[in-house]
Amino acid sequence: MTQTSAEPADLDRARAKYRAERDKRLDPSRREILDLAGRGELVEDPFTEVVPRAPLRDTVDALVVGGGFGGLLAAAHLRKAGVDRIRIVEKAGDVGGVWYWNRYPGAMCDVESYVYLPMLEELGYLPRHRYSYGPEILAYARKLAAHFDLYDHALFHTAVTGLTWDAAGAKWSVRTDRDDEFEARYVVVAHGSFTSLKLPAIDGIDTFEGRLFHTSRWDYDYTGGGPDAPLTHLGDKTVGVIGTGATAVQIVAPLAASARQLRVFQRTPSTVGVRDNRETDQEWAKTLEPGWQKRRRDNFTFVTNGEKITEDLVRDGWTVFYQAMLSNRGYGDLSAEELAEQKELTDLQHMENIRSRIDSVVRDPETAEALKPYYRYQCKRPCFHDEYLPAFNRPNVQLVDTRGRGVQRITPKGVVVDGVEYPLDCLILATGFDQDSSYVDRVGFDVTGLDGTTLSRKWRDGPETFQGVMTSGFPNFFFLPPNYTQGTAAVNFVHTLEETVRHVAFLVAEFERRGVVADVTKTAEDVYVQRVVGGSGLALLGAGSFLKDCTPGRWNNEGDPDGRPRKNVNYPGTSTAYFSMLEEWRQRGDLTDLSLTPRPEANTAAGPAAPTDDVRSAR
Ligand code: NAP
Repeated sequence: MTQTSAEPADLDRARAKYRAERDKRLDPSRREILDLAGRGELVEDPFTEVVPRAPLRDTVDALVVGGGFGGLLAAAHLRKAGVDRIRIVEKAGDVGGVWYWNRYPGAMCDVESYVYLPMLEELGYLPRHRYSYGPEILAYARKLAAHFDLYDHALFHTAVTGLTWDAAGAKWSVRTDRDDEFEARYVVVAHGSFTSLKLPAIDGIDTFEGRLFHTSRWDYDYTGGGPDAPLTHLGDKTVGVIGTGATAVQIVAPLAASARQLRVFQRTPSTVGVRDNRETDQEWAKTLEPGWQKRRRDNFTFVTNGEKITEDLVRDGWTVFYQAMLSNRGYGDLSAEELAEQKELTDLQHMENIRSRIDSVVRDPETAEALKPYYRYQCKRPCFHDEYLPAFNRPNVQLVDTRGRGVQRITPKGVVVDGVEYPLDCLILATGFDQDSSYVDRVGFDVTGLDGTTLSRKWRDGPETFQGVMTSGFPNFFFLPPNYTQGTAAVNFVHTLEETVRHVAFLVAEFERRGVVADVTKTAEDVYVQRVVGGSGLALLGAGSFLKDCTPGRWNNEGDPDGRPRKNVNYPGTSTAYFSMLEEWRQRGDLTDLSLTPRPEANTAAGPAAPTDDVRSAR
């Protein structure tokens, strides 16, 4: 548990340092990214060969766009709701989403596997490690797909190119880039947050003559090895990595162990806490009682949402921090300002611990200093790793700190920082994903609803939703909201997906039971949008001034939290509040807020069975 021994006098010093570090990084060019159009070689699938197939012409009950955990869970819950023909359409060569694409060496999930991997009890599966590695997670995604018979109608290496509502048939007409044209009565878009690669528009990036790839398109033909095997072709190569976010923190150690030389180009250091991974304790596993996963998962979300709980079941790097922040409640009757200061002190002590860990591990004092993050803990996604920092003690590893400014230029031979060229054979972009383009741009297709209205037009000033999952004028159409799309966010994103898809499955089951087509009323949508726009934002990330003071990053709109379109927000409060709002709405059971019209007869006859008990219990 973090000890709060930082003194109020330390706060002023820390604030000044944090501000100076933030200001160094406030640079509008941070937002400049490359257009991926015409850069097929950087985005194509290196893992699965594209198999030619004939275009499809048929009808399904539900189309699910995306085969990551969001799409798989949506499809699984629709299956439980009695929906028969479910078609997942996925750009990748298989299910898995981020875990399909992110096969980089050392990939692992930094949320405990027992709360991250969904439906463990239902599938009778226990992860091998406390924090699962990428290959196991991908295999588990496939297991989910097989368990719910989701491969039967799935289309891989296929991108939806457009959806149009056919009012007479009460169906969606679906078009794809494989010339498919089929119909679906329901659509769930489960696009995910980390789909479009972010390639920074660094001068000269197109001129590099060595091998260049993004971490989510790892080129094992070039590097040799595999996600958990040494990279055998790198022994005579100098490799550069741009970025030091959660992905880079995981790839540095395997690269350091394999490459002749590794150069890590850093703009902002991450917080790197202790990982302490271990194999699942089989004796502990024997003690688990039915319902254990839900209890543990809910407990983790409660703790990381700052809710009051009596027991922390997970007790790891995430929960210990949030528990420490909560312990401020023991200080008695403090004013809001005093409480905020106590929290800031707790945060400062936590960051001091993170920084002193670097001093105790990294031998070269200059490198150690450069690796230290100077901002409040929640400004960026925290990382956890036990081999990242020691890698900088190796003679073949060099940290090239860009002092907040980023890489200056890329040349045919390497990377330039502060006028010095660092020659490289291979440059790996650990630069993350575009989460700022419009929803329609990120999803990659437009949706034409009632009266020819398009989603791109309706949402040109930001999303307009009801509960973050429906939008008026687009009947029987659902989406799983990425961050800042009027839904919610949490440390364990899969938990938010599970709660959201339970809601969607409830709605579909109700529409089926009543034999209706459903749209959201404009009034209900307006009320909801008012509520989220007028709310206080996501409590998890703190209020406006917290984000303003943070080092630039995606959570604070690259240093300009007020510049984010005002409708690009989350439901006010925590994900717990969002889940309760959905639950209470379901409990009411009257579906007011929706406009229901009888479904054409032909449709009803083919409709699915009544909802199963599981779906009823989701109310
Ligand atoms: P990321 O968090 O967006 O980090 C991108 C990195 O690239 C940052 O260090 C950024 O610096 C740097 N960068 C961008 N442009 C640059 C430039 N021009 N010059 C120098 N540096 C530049 O991306 P990521 O690490 O791939 O992570 C993506 C998401 O996946 C995150 O939400 C992460 O938490 C998640 N993830 C999760 C896990 C897990 O265990 N669950 C594992 C891996 C990733 P700045 O910080 O200065 O912007």
